[in-house]
Amino acid sequence: MQKTILIPGGAGYIGSHTAYLMQKLGYKIIILDKFIHNQKFDHNWATVIKADFADKNILEQIFTENNIEAVMHFAAFIEVGESVKKPKDFYENNVIKTLNLLDTMLKYNVKKFVFSSSCAVYGNPIKLPLDENHPTNPISPYGKNKLIVEFALQDYFNAYNLQYVSLRYFNAAGALPTIGLGEQHNPETHIIPLILRAIKNKKIFKIFGSNYNTPDKTCIRDYIHVLDIAQAHVLALKYLENTARSNIFNLGTGHGYSVKEMVEHAQKICKQELLIENCDARAGDVDILVANYNKAKENLGWEPKFSSLDNILQSALEWENRIK
Ligand code: UDP
Repeated sequence: MQKTILIPGGAGYIGSHTAYLMQKLGYKIIILDKFIHNQKFDHNWATVIKADFADKNILEQIFTENNIEAVMHFAAFIEVGESVKKPKDFYENNVIKTLNLLDTMLKYNVKKFVFSSSCAVYGNPIKLPLDENHPTNPISPYGKNKLIVEFALQDYFNAYNLQYVSLRYFNAAGALPTIGLGEQHNPETHIIPLILRAIKNKKIFKIFGSNYNTPDKTCIRDYIHVLDIAQAHVLALKYLENTARSNIFNLGTGHGYSVKEMVEHAQKICKQELLIENCDARAGDVDILVANYNKAKENLGWEPKFSSLDNILQSALEWENRIK
């Protein structure tokens, strides 16, 4: 029988790619999304409910009318800087509403949950690459939100047997332009779309910080293609179905690129020069974040396959050219 997956945040960047892959594999998809980015989502392969994922009536209706196998939860405020300025909104949306969602799941005896977590739970790295045993000491409200939910999940698993996989994403990037999926944040704050737009529109790209403790003095991040992240969700659900366990996994490539390296690569791919300005560092950015993904490899059989920098930038460029 076709299994039904509820995906709060399924019209967002990572959620939409995952929802697409899940339905390709035969799952029935219900997306519950408020469209906070006013993003376009005109795909008919999912049932789309436009509502807040904390709307109790809607949730009750979804769980009553459908036999939900699992929930994959992507709906969250994601901007680290904003979380520092508006922690109340972030705790409300990312923590309280998520706990409500878990409670409704328990009420309807739905006990499989895949959670979008983040490498922001680690804070300043003590040892690189980061593995899942690295101390968690988040520096932003956003990172704390994610860690608090992970703690709740541990307790819910122990007390109520709500099984979960928490996936700690490093830097999601790239797109599936031929399917009509890609990054549509409003406002856009992420490095790759901003570089590509600056090149195209001959505008200045701001490098945030040039005094980091890295070889070229700009921040180093681990960029992972969204399709690889989506694939990890498929495997996470299999893990929940095949084991009675819960777990936490990093999703990254194990290789980092600096902001300057990203700029250089993008210029090569676009065959155009980029105007840059060196600006102050952004609050909350640490020098280097690079994942050790061995645990996901061993337990899920997951490995990045689409995350070469060329593929990430090419797919993002094609997407940018389509959405204009
Ligand atoms: N960055 C930058 N200029 C920009 C946007 C981002 O220099 O206009 C840098 C940012 O400081 C960080 C890296 O690019 O070191 C990745 O930032 P992004 O916002 O894409 O992802 P985050 O790491 O915040 O999730």
